[in-house]
Amino acid sequence: ALQQPHLQSYRDALVWASGLLEAAGEELTDTPGLDASLLLAHAAGIDRTTVFVRLPDRLSEKEANRFRTLIHKRLTGTPVSYLTGRREFWGLDFLVNNAVLIPRPDTETLVEAALEAIGAGMQEAEPGKGMRGGGLRILDLCCGSGCIGIALASELPEAEVVLSDISSAAVDTALRNRQRLLPVDQDIVVMRSDLFGGLFAMAPFDLIVTNPPYLTDDEAEAMASAGWEEPDGALRGGKEGLSLIRKIIPASRHVLRSEGYLFIESAPSQSGEISRMLQEEGFLKVSVKKDLAGRDRVTGG
Ligand code: GLN
Repeated sequence: ALQQPHLQSYRDALVWASGLLEAAGEELTDTPGLDASLLLAHAAGIDRTTVFVRLPDRLSEKEANRFRTLIHKRLTGTPVSYLTGRREFWGLDFLVNNAVLIPRPDTETLVEAALEAIGAGMQEAEPGKGMRGGGLRILDLCCGSGCIGIALASELPEAEVVLSDISSAAVDTALRNRQRLLPVDQDIVVMRSDLFGGLFAMAPFDLIVTNPPYLTDDEAEAMASAGWEEPDGALRGGKEGLSLIRKIIPASRHVLRSEGYLFIESAPSQSGEISRMLQEEGFLKVSVKKDLAGRDRVTGG
């Protein structure tokens, strides 16, 4: 039976919800207080910092009802980002839904690796040109919400950026994020494509970034049976998790300039094999970049 506590104030609401989320255990969330405050802000239509200013204020009946519903959904495992429809990435406010992976902080490592490579490359080509990206053509393959390509585009306003995904629902989401987060006159294309299949007309690229599905079948099945709500198609990468990456590396040669860069996010355990494959394809200066927890997360060169 669902408890229907009488939530008088914002403070009551936070205390009630944080307690329930904490009691649900760390498999549900290791940030019960943060989840509660994000959902309360969403229920009240205000930002999270404002929640703390309003702690003593009364909740309206409508806000209280909305909040209880959100908390009950969170308790069944729905991620906060799917309940609010938002996730911050690279300081930008992305729309998300259950057709796309929720952007992970670790994926910012991929954006950093790409910016570092371009910075280096551009300094060699034209000293002092800075990081505006003029003349560069960039591809975010398997773009999902579009977070990686849009973050790069926000840093490189003069680059041409193509975002593609096999899922048309993901393409719709990336397009909405492009419209929200980037100027209308910026040179951005969002399109559906099965890997590079539909992208030959856009080639050659100077830089390709990708966070493809890379979980093993076993990992993806375990998540599906635990009721994980992110799309299986964005997570499952075959028996060893490498099946997409094994296609992407050799095929990238047909759409990448010979001196272009390819950076791939993967599980830490896959990084060695990815380095090997890249070297075999003739990529020079392959390097590995670690994520926030110090794990090998991005491989490329
Ligand atoms: N990093 C994600 C996870 O741990 C997986 C993302 C992916 O498959 N691209 O769930």
